[in-house]
Amino acid sequence: MPGWEAIIGLEVHARLLTRTKLFCACETAFGAPANTRVCPVCLGYPGALPVLNEAAVELAAGVALATGCAVHQESVFARKNYFYPDLPKGYQISQFDRPLATGGYLDITTREGARRVRIHRIHIEEDAGKLIHDATGGASQDTSLVDLNRAGTPLIEIVSDPDLRSSEEALAYLTRLRQVVMYCDACDGNMEEGSLRCDANVSVRRDGEPLGTRSEVKNLNSFRFLAKAVDFEIERQIALLETGGTVVQETRLFDPATGETRAMRSKEEAHDYRYLPEPDLPPLVVSAAALDRVKARLPEMPAPRAERYRRDYGLSLEDSETLVATRELAEYFERTLAAAASPRAAANWVRNEVVGLCNQKKTPLSSFLVTPGMLGELIRMIDSGEISGKAAKDAFEEMADSGEAPHAIVERRGLSQLSDPEAIREIVERVVASNDAQVALYRAGKTGLFGHFVGQVMKASRGRANPEIANRLLREILDRDGS
Ligand code: ZN
Ligand code: MN
Repeated sequence: MPGWEAIIGLEVHARLLTRTKLFCACETAFGAPANTRVCPVCLGYPGALPVLNEAAVELAAGVALATGCAVHQESVFARKNYFYPDLPKGYQISQFDRPLATGGYLDITTREGARRVRIHRIHIEEDAGKLIHDATGGASQDTSLVDLNRAGTPLIEIVSDPDLRSSEEALAYLTRLRQVVMYCDACDGNMEEGSLRCDANVSVRRDGEPLGTRSEVKNLNSFRFLAKAVDFEIERQIALLETGGTVVQETRLFDPATGETRAMRSKEEAHDYRYLPEPDLPPLVVSAAALDRVKARLPEMPAPRAERYRRDYGLSLEDSETLVATRELAEYFERTLAAAASPRAAANWVRNEVVGLCNQKKTPLSSFLVTPGMLGELIRMIDSGEISGKAAKDAFEEMADSGEAPHAIVERRGLSQLSDPEAIREIVERVVASNDAQVALYRAGKTGLFGHFVGQVMKASRGRANPEIANRLLREILDRDGS
């Protein structure tokens, strides 16, 4: 809206892919029967003591390094006190004034241009349990059930600075962040199952004015809801201010049914939680050596990877971004390229044919029958003129069905391209000789008939004639004999 600027920051909770919970040995398996993954520690029994899960720290540190954060040698766990039925201890073990990592960034690109979004902090904390309000199975409408399987599972909270200016930028940031945590094998990125949850802080201001009061929209569990909630908040706040109202600092809830946000509670301040250092856990110390080991295991991240594709292979922004969407796809592309030599062709085939057919067949790439080596071979056969692009697509579909090697399919089905000029000349001469009427018309000036002859040659060669050679010979023969 002209004259107004929106200021958006995101807080993203990512569930870490550990086998066990953050402070006990209970399994984290999603979807287990309710209250079967619990013990005295995660149920908050008096006297039960937490023991930190080292694997969670390693995953958290990986994400911090991948987003350019400084991982602090020493950080401190703290109790965040509040009452809620899904929080049996009455406090959440989190990190407060001394988080694991601070000061990172992610680069995003939208139609509005490139932007560096600063990451304020990343801290480790435990998840709460789950309340089930729309309970079936005997519970009546005014009953809520508590499932504590999720209580104590490890999370990282990734807090951005308020650097985003539109819902489009918020989506680009969340997309990139999701890619990064998945590249790190830190989180499965599944928003539907709540592995990645997003809160949006939104405020608006008139151009050049100081920051306005913000509202926080909680628990946006899809990209679509994030965009809708942010857009709704921006419009709501501008309308409020333009009619002389004021924005109050509050926590709001997005209602997917109406596409609106509504006030949930007045926003609490940090001091409301009575944060205090967790007395049952010593400060978390991450040694330089441990950090080096984490760093050594990290793959190349999506942003530098996409940039490398553009720089070294001349790929477009869109192609490179599509190819780095998942680590699996990027690695598939790179292995195809290693076998095929032509970056543009490898990119096109992977981006269009491989992704398209996987989607169509609902097959994950990991069980797709065409290996990068096979696709590379197919692309080389096109490059060398052995088969046409059309024949390659036919062969590719068969490869995806049977897993058969391309040369075997081409041989068995007689798909190889006819590139011998003498053989093609024979066919062209036969076509010209048996189309007297059209030849006469062509030579009298109806050159539009050329396509007709091309069609005849392709038909006579059962689609195998190399089109370039066929065109050249057709012109040569039609024009020569006509003069
Ligand atoms: Zn437990
Ligand atoms: Mn949190």
